Amino acid sequence: MTVFLYNTLTRQKEEFKPIDPKNVRLYCCGPTVYSYAHIGNMRTNVFGDVLRRTLKHAGYPLTHCMNITDVGHLQSDADEGEDKMMIASAREKKSPWDIAKFYEQEFFRHEEMLNIQRPEIVCRATDHIPEMIEMVKTLVDKGYGYVSEGNVYFDISKFAEYKDFARLVMDEQEMTDRVEHDARKRNQADFVLWFSESKYPNQIMKWDSPWGVGWPGWHIECSAMASKYLGDHFDIHCGGIDHIPVHHTNEIAQSDCCHGHRWVNVWMHGAFLTIESGKMSKSKGDIYTVDSLIKDGFEPMDYRYLLYTAHYRSELKFTPEAMKAAHAGLQSLRDKVLEWKAVASPVNKISSAAAIEVQKKFWEAVYDDLHMPIALSILWGMVKSADIQPAEKLALVVDFEQVLGLQLMAYVKPEVVLSDEQKHMIEARNSAKKEKNFAEADRLRQVLLAQGIALEDTPSGTLARHVD
Ligand code: AMP
Ligand code: ZN
Repeated sequence: MTVFLYNTLTRQKEEFKPIDPKNVRLYCCGPTVYSYAHIGNMRTNVFGDVLRRTLKHAGYPLTHCMNITDVGHLQSDADEGEDKMMIASAREKKSPWDIAKFYEQEFFRHEEMLNIQRPEIVCRATDHIPEMIEMVKTLVDKGYGYVSEGNVYFDISKFAEYKDFARLVMDEQEMTDRVEHDARKRNQADFVLWFSESKYPNQIMKWDSPWGVGWPGWHIECSAMASKYLGDHFDIHCGGIDHIPVHHTNEIAQSDCCHGHRWVNVWMHGAFLTIESGKMSKSKGDIYTVDSLIKDGFEPMDYRYLLYTAHYRSELKFTPEAMKAAHAGLQSLRDKVLEWKAVASPVNKISSAAAIEVQKKFWEAVYDDLHMPIALSILWGMVKSADIQPAEKLALVVDFEQVLGLQLMAYVKPEVVLSDEQKHMIEARNSAKKEKNFAEADRLRQVLLAQGIALEDTPSGTLARHVD
């Protein structure tokens, strides 16, 4: 089966053709570790994870690389404001190194809770300063970079295609709307490759370089690390949609110019998670994290399920109602799996025509630019199908879980602790039901419900669970 992916470079859905089918290379822009990752950031990471799982399912051996930005990402993506690490350092009265260490650990804790697979390569910017300096040197030597007051800038006028990726209008006025005026630059849209103390005298994280003591710009970090681990020509580079006009535009400019040819074949971007007031962002302060979802009574998998209700290229509005609906949807799916598990085990080989058809349609949807909402609806069609037996349904769940990652097969009902009185009520209710005294059975069910205990009759007996 062929995988189709939407390529921002061509603004088209294209058949994915790997450069080397024995080693598909994927780079995802990783977190800036100055604060907790919010669930908007996590939406982009789940998108990367679904892409990763899909490529693996398609049979491609994969080298997936993700960076950790622990220096050089300023408040504005376009080189303005202060380094986010320095801001966090002042806020929390810790060294930027300690800040980075703490939030990197927290980031991976949240990733694990969301069952996001760890990329083969995770690389920190601060561990790759020599590689960045090397790349900046090459750009200066080739005439694309220039030094001004100790900072090194990329001269966008030397790269004719600069505007193409983001379809920017090459009107100086419009270009410069993205950045603040800076007399050091030849063109206002030029961006920093290497910062020196002339601009930010208070920086703590700094290294020696041919241009004096300083630190790398955010964009060069990704270019240098991705080139080191994935080469000067690799398959897919992805991130959030906000990276199109600045970060990825700049990455393309410096990398294509440094290597002398196209660097990446496919660029993919995930749309935002929004809230009532617009984009969820750390700077606005009104953020949710995986931890805060848990505090609100949800499970991380509820959020992962929610993300599948929208295509990755469509905005998704986060509301408490949507979370509750996702929680209910996931719970009914889990309950179905438990029902089937009570009477069957997954078959080794799917053989009925109905199951084969469902399997084909599910993967067609996933391979069609990761269309998870359609895949989810096919999954639900299977759940309700009278033509597929529980043993095959379980086998399909095992198969689909390769991309879903919802931990459906591992789910066990949390223990419900019942008082003696509640246990007696359940027995009395079951006896009343047997005697066809449905009015009494219903009355007892309602009393238990008022105490937060719901009853469910399954082939393996009556189950009690807490209601939310
Ligand atoms: P940062 O840690 O701020 O560098 O962002 C990490 C990733 O999250 C980037 O790929 C951003 O594009 C992405 N991102 C930021 N805000 C959101 C949001 N509200 N929804 C989805 N992705 C986002
Ligand atoms: Zn990046």
